[in-house]
Amino acid sequence: MAIYQYRCAEHGLLEVARPIGTAADSEPCPDCATPAPRVFTAPRLALGSARNRALIDRTARTADQPAVVSAPPSRRAVPQAHDPALARLPRP
Ligand SMILES: [Zn+2]
Repeated sequence: MAIYQYRCAEHGLLEVARPIGTAADSEPCPDCATPAPRVFTAPRLALGSARNRALIDRTARTADQPAVVSAPPSRRAVPQAHDPALARLPRP
């Protein structure tokens, strides 16, 4: 997924996420629906290691493609803290 920028003459820059290589020459402005021409910018390649880039891509994907679950997680799946100080706290 890549972020492409377009510039509306009236409303300024807008960003659209599309798969790489599928950017259109213009996108309709979300405010006025006027075709906004594409703005070419330097690619953001220096984002650290491949692991960091994968994390950033996964995080960005959750905005428009969130994981769908059929049920809430079970209580056993929730990780418990193993701090011994927590055992000494008063219980309700
Ligand atoms: Zn506009």
